[in-house]
Order: sequence, then structure tokens, then C-alpha cells
Amino acid sequence: MNPKEIDHIGIAVNNIEKAFEFYKSLGWKDLKTEIVKSEKVRVGFISFGNNVHIELLEATEPDSPIAKFISKRGEGIHHICIRTEDVKEDLQKLKSKGHRLVNETPKEGAKNCWVAFVHPSSANGVLIELSQERES
Ligand code: ZN
Repeated sequence: MNPKEIDHIGIAVNNIEKAFEFYKSLGWKDLKTEIVKSEKVRVGFISFGNNVHIELLEATEPDSPIAKFISKRGEGIHHICIRTEDVKEDLQKLKSKGHRLVNETPKEGAKNCWVAFVHPSSANGVLIELSQERES
């Protein structure tokens, strides 16, 4: 078996601290952020009791994918991340079925994970991130 779960929902925002004000109003207190160089973003994860997170994404460079996304569509849901045990294997499976991948191989993502993106044209208009915990 290869159990998969929703890991997080990524939301593109102009400013993480500003965006977090909404969650503060609902009782969240502090937000840890980190920079993901490979994606040119700063991210902050908001935890929920069921182990699903919301990932706030802020561009760190004008040519960041998040900056491009916001300039086209404004702030909003950017991607859904599926936690998996083997990103490489999943990429292979998807490729063999003709699905369009953004990343052919996993790369370093936030939270010490290997990640890869699947193109929205293969997933009903939604950008899908696959994420696997790295062994440390
Ligand atoms: Zn993500």
C-alpha cells in the first residue's frame, strides 16, 4: 500500500504577516516562516489539528512563480500538496500515463521534504505538489 494524505493547501499572498492577521483573529498566535530558495518564496505553515496545513506563500523575487501567479490572478489558492512515501515512483507512474509534470525529478522543498509539481492541465486545473519527507 502507498497511503497518501493531503499535506497542505498553498495560498499565494502578497505579504505573509498581513495574511496571517486573518488566522490570528481566529486564535493562531505565531507563525514560523522559512525561505525556499528553489522556488523563490518565503513560506509560513499554519497547523490544523488533523495534520493538514495551510502554506502561505510570498514571493522573494520578482520572477518567483508566486509573483507571476499573483500578477495574473491575484492572491488565492495556488496548489494542493499530497504527502506521499515516494515522489520519484509517483512521478514515474504519472509520466507513464501521459500526465504533464512541472518537475521531472524531486527537488528540495519546505519542511525538509522532497517535492515535485504536476501541471494543472493534468489535474483538473489544479497545480498539485507531491511531497515526501526526507530522511535526515
Ligand atoms: Zn506547497
